[in-house]
Amino acid sequence: MTEQLLGAHVSISGGVYNAIANGEKIGAAAIQIFSKNQTRWVAKPLSDEDAEKFKTAWQNSTIKEVVIHDSYLINLGSPKEETLQKSRVTFLDEIARAEKLGIGYLVFHPGSHLNSGEETGLQKIAESLNLIINQTPDYKVRLLLEVTAGQGTNLGYRFEQLSSIIEQVENKKRMGICLDTAHIFAAGYDIRTTETYQNTMAQFDSVLGLDNLFCIHLNDSKKELGSRVDRHNNIGGGFIGIEPFRMIVNDPRLVKVPKILETPGGEEEFMKNLALLKSFLN
Ligand code: ZN
Ligand code: MN
Ligand code: MN
Repeated sequence: MTEQLLGAHVSISGGVYNAIANGEKIGAAAIQIFSKNQTRWVAKPLSDEDAEKFKTAWQNSTIKEVVIHDSYLINLGSPKEETLQKSRVTFLDEIARAEKLGIGYLVFHPGSHLNSGEETGLQKIAESLNLIINQTPDYKVRLLLEVTAGQGTNLGYRFEQLSSIIEQVENKKRMGICLDTAHIFAAGYDIRTTETYQNTMAQFDSVLGLDNLFCIHLNDSKKELGSRVDRHNNIGGGFIGIEPFRMIVNDPRLVKVPKILETPGGEEEFMKNLALLKSFLN
């Protein structure tokens, strides 16, 4: 079997280039990072020097793929004009940073409608994406909508909602999907048996297309099926259990897709989770 792109979300503390060594330290082949402090709207610009240091470190490493996760503050579907504008400006900065680092994928949460209604929220998100994509015609970074758990008024907890956004985006080549196992499970998509796993994947394929899946977040869930609550747990430590992860890492349709842990506990726990995942490989 081809080498799996297994890895985790690692820290950029002290400089974005440190993420590469942090990934290698835990034996990751793929990593996810925040490209800046994810709790702030405005970040210090990424210097040419830091970007070069990052690219050189990456080239000289065993890390095959890097994805960025956007800031949690961004809401591209906000009905509040001020938040919407700030979100668009910050999202534009996120993709500019990705481009400057030579990173091909930006994972983002679609947005929350904040009681303006699901349809309105989905339209607003698509409008934001069209504006941003039109402002960056030469960019290569692909924008990956993450399936969410559907907490509060968060959108993206049905595959159909993500497909509705993509349907309304003019340049579909700039778009893709990130599937998070804890999120889909909390959203009500069961994957615990061979039958439910195959059924959920078939639904994903028919609504969104497996060709559009560019990243997977491997997390177990502290909350039950359909709870609509987003709480990650270590692999096998939650309500999803061991078997679905064995099916995912051995699914031939998903071999090339980076699989990133966002489990709690830090480096030591990541290493345990990665060892477990590797032990599943046929
Ligand atoms: Zn996420
Ligand atoms: Mn995730
Ligand atoms: Mn989550």
